[in-house]
Amino acid sequence: GIRFEKVVKRFGANVVLRELDFTVAPGERVTLIGPSGSGKTTILRLLMTLEKLDEGLIWIGDDTLWHMDKGGKRVPANQRHLHEMRKQVGMVFQQFNLFPNMNVLRNLTEGPVRALGVPKDEAVERARGLLDMVGLADKIDAHPSQLSGGQQQRVAIARALAMEPRVLLLDEVTSALDPELVVGVQDLLRDIARGSDLTMLCVTHEMGFAKDISDRVLMFDEGQIVEEGPPDRIFGEPSEQRTRDFLQAVL
Ligand code: ATP
Repeated sequence: GIRFEKVVKRFGANVVLRELDFTVAPGERVTLIGPSGSGKTTILRLLMTLEKLDEGLIWIGDDTLWHMDKGGKRVPANQRHLHEMRKQVGMVFQQFNLFPNMNVLRNLTEGPVRALGVPKDEAVERARGLLDMVGLADKIDAHPSQLSGGQQQRVAIARALAMEPRVLLLDEVTSALDPELVVGVQDLLRDIARGSDLTMLCVTHEMGFAKDISDRVLMFDEGQIVEEGPPDRIFGEPSEQRTRDFLQAVL
């Protein structure tokens, strides 16, 4: 699972996360919704250690991104520890971010072989299985530039899963896709969500998808959770005015 404990994140004078507290249980699928610029992507980037936090603690499983020293002072986790933690987290971005100079197969095997030390044969085997699952077995030798946006995003999802993460982060994964390609990628992610015990944290502006994929929805604004609950309640009968206003604007 994931736990944020009084996490503060600033960019200069801009306080993006204000003593943010939330947890995602192991195997739980949680969606973050909220206005643009409210800090949702920052939450995912902190989990990927692409950003540093200013205060608080972030837990992934039983580990923190920070340690307490003997005097009870907070010190950053050492590089080795960070590296170990990062291996548990996979992320799929809005822009597919495939390695452009590698074919599909190598996009899927590079991480497992280089970062995890998986034997090449095994990595290839796993990649074939994943490409089957995302319906792209016939594209194994293609380069990213030869694929449609939807196909690239499927490969990006397969690449994240190839690392066998415990936590999967999805950041607006369909918002760069042509409308006719959105449903296919959403269906794939829904199947993955239902068929695995992955912990998932998802940022999306597509409320139908949020409803479909999540056990719980967190409404986020101005650096804090405004309200949370099962999707039926958050979308059906939100209790906070800010949630109602937000939903009215996006639905
Ligand atoms: P959207 O839904 O539009 O993607 P978001 O909720 O994901 O928005 P973030 O991308 O997390 O929002 O940004 C939160 C705030 O932090 C914004 O005010 C943004 O301008 C600021 N911010 C994000 N990254 C940086 C950065 N590297 N340097 C300075 N400010 C940043």
